[in-house]
Parts: sequence; C-alpha cells; structure tokens
Amino acid sequence: MIIFGSRTTQRIIAALFFVCTFCNAEAAQRLVRVRSMFTLFFIPVFPFGHGQYMISCAYCGNQTALSRASAEEFQRDAVELEAARMNAETAVPEIPSA
Ligand SMILES: [Zn+2]
Repeated sequence: MIIFGSRTTQRIIAALFFVCTFCNAEAAQRLVRVRSMFTLFFIPVFPFGHGQYMISCAYCGNQTALSRASAEEFQRDAVELEAARMNAETAVPEIPSA
C-alpha cells in the first residue's frame, strides 16, 4: 500500500522592522513563504502549485497575504538593509586630520 498526501510548509525568508498595520506596534515583520509539498509515506518529496507569500507580525502574529511582486520587493529591501548594516559595522572611523 502506498500512502501519499500533501502538507503545507512555512519558511521565513526575510524580515524587516516596521509598524504593523494591524496592531500599530513597531516590530519585526517576517516574510513567510507557504508551499504545498507532495508527501510519500508522510515524507515531503517535492513542492507543487504556486507558493504563497505572507507577512507575519512578530508582535501580534497577524498574517497578511502578499503578492509575489511585493514579496520580491520586501526581499530586496531586506537584503539592501542588511548590506547597509554590514557596511556600517565594518566601516573604519575616519581620523580627523589636524
Ligand atoms: Zn502586529
């Protein structure tokens, strides 16, 4: 007997800090990718269908659906912000010349 089915998986792929539209608290807003996986004997084998994106508030837990274009923009912003933060951390402070 072959046992097959499906299961949805959620993965946080990026995070940004901004004010939540639901609870109005400034908190980490996590970009979550939701995918359906085909399972064989309860083991996920491969994804199927189009993945969905959601923003999940770390403070209140509210989840809002997001379009693919908006999700990609969110990811770009998160990457740029992280790069800017890394540059700020590794920058050598300028020594004022006399
Ligand atoms: Zn919230």
